[in-house]
Amino acid sequence: MNQLRWDPTLREWVAYATHRQERTFLPPAEYCPLCPTKPGGFPTEVPRESYEIAVFENKFPSFAPNAPAPEEPGTSLTPTAPGRGICEVVLYSDDHAATLATMGERRIHNLIRVWTDRYEELGSLDFVDYVFIFENKGEAIGVTLHHPHGQIYGYTFIPPRPAKELEAAREYRKQNYERCLHCDLLSQEHEDGRRILIGGEHFTAFIPFYAHFPFEAHVYSRRCAPSIADLGAEERSDLASVLKRLLVGYDSLFGFSLPYMMVMHQAPTDGGDYDGVAHFHIEFYPPNRTADKLKYLAGSETGAGAFIMDVLPERTAETLRGKIEAR
Ligand SMILES: [Zn+2]
Ligand SMILES: [Zn+2]
Ligand SMILES: [Zn+2]
Repeated sequence: MNQLRWDPTLREWVAYATHRQERTFLPPAEYCPLCPTKPGGFPTEVPRESYEIAVFENKFPSFAPNAPAPEEPGTSLTPTAPGRGICEVVLYSDDHAATLATMGERRIHNLIRVWTDRYEELGSLDFVDYVFIFENKGEAIGVTLHHPHGQIYGYTFIPPRPAKELEAAREYRKQNYERCLHCDLLSQEHEDGRRILIGGEHFTAFIPFYAHFPFEAHVYSRRCAPSIADLGAEERSDLASVLKRLLVGYDSLFGFSLPYMMVMHQAPTDGGDYDGVAHFHIEFYPPNRTADKLKYLAGSETGAGAFIMDVLPERTAETLRGKIEAR
């Protein structure tokens, strides 16, 4: 059911999980499988009347911890591998209508502690080389369930995008007297100031100089912390506050709850040394260009890997900062 196939032209794995075709698709709110189980009601994924934050294994996983050897043997040119890994679902709240933006800072802070716990626990498994914490939000991103939730994948390999970033940071460090690429990018953003959205005590939110989406925002730890597990209590509180302000700002951009992909980049858990190479940060990619226009990954973006943007990050940062400051 779960297998990996190697693409030798891009040198990356593609995961196949055929049973995912049958997963629940946008059920009506009263049949939400992520809501608490009501007394006398149908049993949901959470057999309790209420909950704060819940984590469980995805029922329709892209990877499985005990994935068998694939039936398709592949060749030396295009090998296959078991689709081994972990897929967890993180429920942010038992309130079906909530979103991260509408939640209190205290809950977001608790969620950060849950993410930290999962990063440490999944990362300690010998077959998990990369813990990827993310959220797909909104139908524009293709979510199948509206209930506020995120996901965590434990990959048996470092996925291409973080791998590319880590390679760039390692190379930069070598050529620049052991400096951290992300620390330098962050100081450059602070010096320039035009794309800064929120300057917290321990975290900064900004639209990067080279944003790939109009309202792409990055949230960087100001200290060179390799992973979420390296954050102290004050840093976690500040992260909760910066996230809350950014998300409230996002929702006031167009007057509706903004769809986005949220992803975390941090140190792999493969036993390597990532000090000064991995620098914990969160990236948000909202697909909206305007209230009713989406940025599609079309020919140039998908087939050439070259992003074309029609608005400068300085402009979108000004707009979004205005919304954040008005709140
Ligand atoms: Zn629900
Ligand atoms: Zn750094
Ligand atoms: Zn990144």
